[in-house]
Amino acid sequence: MKTIIEPFRIKVVEPIRLSTRGEREALLADASFNTFLLQSDDVIIDLLTDSGTSAMSAAQWSAIMQGDESYAGSPSYRRFEKAVKDLLPFEHIIPTHQGRAAEHILFSIISGKGQQIPSNTHFDTTRSNIEESGAMAHDLVIAEGLDPANLHPFKGNMDTERLQEFLANHSSSTPCIMLTVTNNAGGGQPVSMANIAEVSRIAGEFKIPLFIDGCRFAENAFFIKLREPEYEDWSVPDIVGKMFSYADGMTMSAKKDAFANIGGWLALNDGELAEKARTRLIQIEGFPTYGGLAGRDLEAIAQGLKEIVDESYLTYRLRTTAYIVEKLQELNIPVVQPAGGHAVFIDARAWLPHIPSLSYPGQAVVCGLYEIGGVRACEIGTVMFGRQPDGSEQAAPMDLVRLAFPRRVYTQSHADYLIEVFAELAADTQAMTGFKIIKEPAALRHFTSRFERL
Ligand SMILES: *Cc1c(COP(=O)(O)O)cnc(C)c1O
Repeated sequence: MKTIIEPFRIKVVEPIRLSTRGEREALLADASFNTFLLQSDDVIIDLLTDSGTSAMSAAQWSAIMQGDESYAGSPSYRRFEKAVKDLLPFEHIIPTHQGRAAEHILFSIISGKGQQIPSNTHFDTTRSNIEESGAMAHDLVIAEGLDPANLHPFKGNMDTERLQEFLANHSSSTPCIMLTVTNNAGGGQPVSMANIAEVSRIAGEFKIPLFIDGCRFAENAFFIKLREPEYEDWSVPDIVGKMFSYADGMTMSAKKDAFANIGGWLALNDGELAEKARTRLIQIEGFPTYGGLAGRDLEAIAQGLKEIVDESYLTYRLRTTAYIVEKLQELNIPVVQPAGGHAVFIDARAWLPHIPSLSYPGQAVVCGLYEIGGVRACEIGTVMFGRQPDGSEQAAPMDLVRLAFPRRVYTQSHADYLIEVFAELAADTQAMTGFKIIKEPAALRHFTSRFERL
């Protein structure tokens, strides 16, 4: 059949309150045109993030009832550890309350002042944990990964020539190499198996460990199956196993590709490093058999990991973003191509040339989406990155708007509704106007800034 259906039935529903356009205009003005300041029950389709927003399955909810909340030696930890090890070839599995806690522990023990850590692109919490340790974070993604219209199949790949050059100068101050799969900051673009293998070969040549930030490992594995002919006939779990066989460890947010609402882990092969990590874990998260989690959360992750590698789910998942990208292109709306795994990015600067970057074209799109359709998206551009440390302001490299899709939450008709909202915006782009910021904090201004329409 040509129609790709949602491979699940809906047993429990969360009603969506349908608001009117007039109500939304008033709510947005009350929130000073910052969608982070809206109440989520005033949103019809919430595409702010795919993190922790997954719908859990009946099997996950029933596993939750088996959660054993013992402080030490919980069978829930054993089931969690087994589920992780069934997919990922690591010796030591250390649970944490989120991905960033795993990063914090890793970098607090391996990195420090004067050190350098290269990656394809560090996620923002990864970068900030590296910088907090005193080290510097470097992004070495391939050039195609920075060009929104380029159709390269693996735009998340590391530029291995630049990596080699980088290590020729800095290998003695490089405690590890990171690789983010998929590349979140770049729009959920995948990394190929060949690239993982080459990065691993270079890491071995310089005797530097390779850690994978594996938040969207299943989506990445399915892209490999679809786009790297050698792996066409491989099962997703086998591709996952092979991807991680090249690494010495991983950090993970279970809020992404584990269908959990909270959780994460640090996985390591090196026993000495694992002992240090567990000591740190006890200081800041909890005993090694629960980390920062309840036993029931470990159960939800264990079951989620069995479901995330299902090919009918992954087919539906990647089709969702590809479908929306196709429809937006039919409306001549510039988007980052090809479609990534978890998100669709609109190039607001290219779409709204009448709004200069310092009047925030991305914010104009975000506000238009909410007023017209109650859709919540996220500006990733000059609002987020434009403020300089000295308080001055500069255009960000790109003005993008991200639509991130919660897993198993929305259906085809939600996608069609989203397209209709975009069609209405596209019919009169001049109606979208710029904004100015009237109040902002010194850092991370996108969360709390207040805007006025120009
Ligand atoms: C979300 C994310 C993290 C951080 O995980 P949290 O669970 O949100 O702390 C790290 N890396 C990537 C690529 C992510 O997407």
